[in-house]
Amino acid sequence: MTRKGWLVVAAAAAVLLTGVLGVYLYNRYAPSPGRWALFRELHTDRELFERYAIRPGMRCDGAPFAFPTHGVILGLWNQSYRFGHTHTGLDIFSGTQPGITPIYAAYPGYLTRLDDWQSTVIIRVPSDPLEPGRQIWTYYTHMANVDGESFVSDQFPPGTSEVYVEEGTFLGYMGNYSGDPGAPTGLHLHFSVVKDDGEGDFLNETRITNTYDPTLYFNMTVDHQKNRNDVPMCEGVMTFEDWDLVGVDE
Ligand SMILES: [Zn+2]
Repeated sequence: MTRKGWLVVAAAAAVLLTGVLGVYLYNRYAPSPGRWALFRELHTDRELFERYAIRPGMRCDGAPFAFPTHGVILGLWNQSYRFGHTHTGLDIFSGTQPGITPIYAAYPGYLTRLDDWQSTVIIRVPSDPLEPGRQIWTYYTHMANVDGESFVSDQFPPGTSEVYVEEGTFLGYMGNYSGDPGAPTGLHLHFSVVKDDGEGDFLNETRITNTYDPTLYFNMTVDHQKNRNDVPMCEGVMTFEDWDLVGVDE
């Protein structure tokens, strides 16, 4: 081929590559208007909220995990909120105020709260219900107000280690603490399923590769790459656990 011919081929390849990359980046980082468009209204329109909200103790179609709180899932696993970020869990919004909406254990296990955790607990599940014998961890955070005043249950003070909790145990109230009082999160529960390091400890939860897709644990499509627009809902039979609920949240 002539030099000119090669140049044409190279230019065509560059255009193609740019296109493919563009599509990839768009799909990866474009906001999902369908779901997030509800964000504001959910906080002002209680009827709309209830249409999408899931209640604590709800179990979808034989799922191993029950739903840990009363709220709407807007943030999904494997969703990018901003460039370079990939979300590691579910963000469940209650649309109330900090310190009002109770959070319960979605699955039994051994609860730990490290000394410096104001808003977080983690529960060790010795045998993954989806893969028996494998140890996993369930992680619950943002249970404090904007200044870091904790909403975690008094039953689990800082330094709590390996306390057995049944499914449905009250863990604390939903908050908006981010770790930085100057930049609170929106009021929500962040819940994730965290991998074990193989030596009995949990891995760093902020990296997606250290977490599992919660889809099969809840039997709801909560992988953003498979559900870009819809609010995840239970599509099968819904059952409710007879939990000892801590008041109401509205
Ligand atoms: Zn989150």
